[in-house]
Amino acid sequence: MARTELDALALNALTLEQKASLLSGRDFWTTKPLEEAGIPSITLCDGPHGVRREAGGSDHLGLNESIPATCFPPAVAVGSSWDPEVAARIGAAVGREGRALGVAVVLGPGVNIKRSPLCGRNFEYYSEDPLLSGVLGAAHVAALQAEGPGASVKHFAANNQETERMRVSADVDERTLREIYFPAFERVVTQARPATVMCSYNRVNGVHASQNRWLLTDVLRREWGFTGVVVSDWGAVQDRVAALAAGLDLEMPGTGGASDRRIVDAVRAGDLDEAVVNASVRRVVALTERHHGVSGAFDADAHHALARELAAECAVLLKNEDGTLPLSASARIAVIGEFAARPRFQGGGSSHINATRVDAALDAIRALAPDVAYAQGFSLDGSGDARELREAAAEAAASADVAVVFAGLGEREESEGFDRETIDLPAVQVELIRAVAAAARRTVVVLSNGGVVSMEDWHDDVDAVLEGWLLGQAGGSAVADLLFGVVNPSGRLAESIPFRLQDTPSYLNFPGEAGHVRYGEGVMVGYRYYETVELPVRYPFGHGLSYTTFTVDGLTVVRTGDDTATVTVRVTNTGERAGKHVVQVYVSTTAGPVRRPARELRAFTKVSLAPGESRTITLSLDRRAFAYYDVPLGRWVVAPGDYTIQIGENASSVVAETTISLDGDSVVPVVSLDSTLGEWLSHPLAGPALVRVLTGGKSERPEEDDENGLRMASSMPMGRFLTFAGIDIPHTTLRELVELGGSDGAAA
Ligand code: BGC
Repeated sequence: MARTELDALALNALTLEQKASLLSGRDFWTTKPLEEAGIPSITLCDGPHGVRREAGGSDHLGLNESIPATCFPPAVAVGSSWDPEVAARIGAAVGREGRALGVAVVLGPGVNIKRSPLCGRNFEYYSEDPLLSGVLGAAHVAALQAEGPGASVKHFAANNQETERMRVSADVDERTLREIYFPAFERVVTQARPATVMCSYNRVNGVHASQNRWLLTDVLRREWGFTGVVVSDWGAVQDRVAALAAGLDLEMPGTGGASDRRIVDAVRAGDLDEAVVNASVRRVVALTERHHGVSGAFDADAHHALARELAAECAVLLKNEDGTLPLSASARIAVIGEFAARPRFQGGGSSHINATRVDAALDAIRALAPDVAYAQGFSLDGSGDARELREAAAEAAASADVAVVFAGLGEREESEGFDRETIDLPAVQVELIRAVAAAARRTVVVLSNGGVVSMEDWHDDVDAVLEGWLLGQAGGSAVADLLFGVVNPSGRLAESIPFRLQDTPSYLNFPGEAGHVRYGEGVMVGYRYYETVELPVRYPFGHGLSYTTFTVDGLTVVRTGDDTATVTVRVTNTGERAGKHVVQVYVSTTAGPVRRPARELRAFTKVSLAPGESRTITLSLDRRAFAYYDVPLGRWVVAPGDYTIQIGENASSVVAETTISLDGDSVVPVVSLDSTLGEWLSHPLAGPALVRVLTGGKSERPEEDDENGLRMASSMPMGRFLTFAGIDIPHTTLRELVELGGSDGAAA
């Protein structure tokens, strides 16, 4: 019987060397066993949208062949489903495959926020919005872990680019970390209790995430109550002893014993408390409860069918003029573009799955319609004559009723390990789309891309656009199902599509310079920025069309406490097909002392409705839905004031709204001699007392005549104001005033 819990006696029986040995890998993917103590070795492997169980050589870049497994839609697609059920069904299936392949921990999901469309790994992340990312990540983790293996939510934290990813310091203010970059991790940790959290490669405000005590211990364990194992990203540890002291339990991959010796030496030299080693050993041993060996098998056909069903939930119908889609099976169809025959369905790097099989859209279209011509259009490897390929495609398009162009990015353009420099599609493809659109009666573009691409050179020339992202191994047949209306599109954008790269909020601060990337846009990430500065985008966050139509009405918002509410709306399918609508609830406020985004997504749900069906939906808004993170106070604060609850068709189109007033928190600021005169005057106790002293007891409020002068002086720190104005307040009075302001009177 393997041991998964260490009591004090068992721990005492282990030598320091044995304990240290448990805290780093045996090799690339496994931990060290301690057979004499009944502690097994466990296997960790990538994730997240499939199992990458390497059978021969090991690497963290997806270079070596792995055992075949189902490649489900990657996170970029799942994000667009806006459906935790989709994330959960993927998590569960990956869990089943992990168990069957003898994996104890499947690494993922990645819940980093898409700060810039250029991040080479955006395909592995869900969204630019923390709520959407967190809800999907938590659903994935809970379902995966219910099957046996543990998950590893990653990469904690502020890992939003690939450039210099092992060295760069993400310089982010605390409010932004708390409101944008942490909440998805926090939700996954507190709601789904992942077995492990993987620290990121980068530094956060100068300190490597792997040895950042504030991140790994203060926030993750103390505030969020994480009790599992913190594992390093592969090779993220810079200083093993500092990392252990900061809260990093397990270093991966192994370092051939070098790290273990460092830990032993540090304890012996009195530089590291052995209690720290013991705590990490207990956690790593507890993780071995995930060890099941190889158990069960998975049904590859059933998982492929599941991958197809779920992929169809993820693609986003961006544009559909004059009912171009769905296609009629009797139409003459020209399928154009090499991606139709050789699909791009997953990203490059550590998440690269050796798919059990791959569906090409061309085959799936041919299975649904008899009259289908195919032209390659462009070549993925650059071979052939671009002009000839384009002309042949235009010719095929001219003799069809509709041309469907499969365009997108190849793995050379985007992958783990590097960022993109442009959001443009390759020029040959742009030229192809334009040439086809000029020749065809109707043109549909189907995109396969892990990161956002610009549509500006061709968007207005075409009739319909289906954003397929990367849809996993069955994406080709899912796309055919959507094109012909076998399935009604229901995806919504999880990230904004800008007109220009220059419009993106991080444009001036990406990917940083001289070892630092400054998150200068603060909390104004994605739609939060575009909506606040009123900058139009090509397609907003939350946008997505359907083959049916919906109305949303009857909005009612009921306050359920000082700072909570419920939102009720009725959704009706007013069209002729069954379909799914995403109810998006945003909160908009200017309350409080910090700059708030124009609106923020605070609740959502996806509703499935038959033609003509109505459903009344109620969603809850908790305290966090209204709060901002107050850095000086070190906590979440709901400012008293007005909050407008908005139902968005997407982030830039509000279809109903209503405003409520919240009492919020009564926060009495502390004032000291360093606080400004303005802060003093607005303090409920110290303010009137100060005016009393200044006016010789005549008044508690400044005279109107004095107001202008006071306004000019209001930003002066109190101490300097008194000196400047030559006001001599007796020391004891000053002390009393400072105490009234909540500060220690001794400081006066
Ligand atoms: C990636 C992780 C991955 C690990 C193991 C690293 O390069 O950043 O996401 O889980 O390798 O392959």
